[in-house]
Amino acid sequence: MLTVLFATPSLWAEFQPHLTAALAEAGVSARLVTEARPEEVDYIVYSPISPLQDFTPYTRAKAVLNLWAGVEKIVGNQTLTQPLCRMVDPGLTEGMVEWVVGHCLRHHLGMDRHILNPGHFWDQTCPPLARERPVTILGMGALGSASAAALRGMNFPVTGWSRTAKPGCLHGEDGLKQALSNAAILVTLLPKTPETENLLNADRLAMLPKGAVIVNPGRGALIDDDALLAALDAGHVGHATLDVFRVEPLPKDHRYWTHPRVTVTPHIAADTRPSSSSRVIAENIRRGEAGEPYLHLVDRTRGY
Ligand code: NAP
Repeated sequence: MLTVLFATPSLWAEFQPHLTAALAEAGVSARLVTEARPEEVDYIVYSPISPLQDFTPYTRAKAVLNLWAGVEKIVGNQTLTQPLCRMVDPGLTEGMVEWVVGHCLRHHLGMDRHILNPGHFWDQTCPPLARERPVTILGMGALGSASAAALRGMNFPVTGWSRTAKPGCLHGEDGLKQALSNAAILVTLLPKTPETENLLNADRLAMLPKGAVIVNPGRGALIDDDALLAALDAGHVGHATLDVFRVEPLPKDHRYWTHPRVTVTPHIAADTRPSSSSRVIAENIRRGEAGEPYLHLVDRTRGY
């Protein structure tokens, strides 16, 4: 029987019933525990909030299965030599699509004008149709491509940008310039890596059309905060809806909290859902035991 260490005790109560059921469903015979002698552990279900930081004693562990989509807090851990899988969870993806579509629609429809100023004006300006509001998504992976599909389904013209060439998707520096210059709404769904840190600096923000809206559920470090605040102050960026920050929780005295053109949401765009993500974990353990390739294996040289 395998020993599967669930290494984040604070999430145990939430995950335990789902993981137990998912392992049984996948035909995996395993002892699911929150504590074990390291040399007895076959798989580690991990999250960056786990107290486990030194993987050296886990000599038998075949893989580390991350509960989060983002892996920037573990990818550089020198003690981790096993394969690392990140989370691509259908429930998390569904949540992200809903958050992205909701915040894009808020800005597209100009909802604030009527919700925040009820009865104070009678301005009958109709919003344009979605087909007239270009959206750019930086990062066309699991979450970016699902968000793009949903927005396209509502007729938004969506331009995607990713690291590698893909059909219907821009890439490279010229592609980025094109993607930014065409964005009435910019959604950032990139991972945090050395290449993406401060990707949206002053020069790149200046490439956006005046009044463009930024929606960032990716990572705080993708944006140079001072450059964004300057672009907001100057009215070049019309609004920024930010879910993620360099420091979380966002410090109480941060200008984002009080800036009239910033909306802060507290890293709630999309959560890993215990029921659907447990099936992904169980499937990866089944694969590991069957000698099949893992799903969502992280390329550590790439950083995601
Ligand atoms: P993913 O499937 O790995 O997709 C990442 C995308 O970013 C890929 O399209 C990749 O390009 C692109 N990319 C990476 N480095 C790039 C670079 N240097 N230049 C251009 N494109 C680059 O990841 P995902 O599952 O969609 O998740 C994306 C991120 O969302 C996560 O890393 C995490 O930070 C964030 N997230 C946030 C929340 C939240 O609640 N706010 C929840 C979950 C995830 P290729 O396709 O060419 O590889």
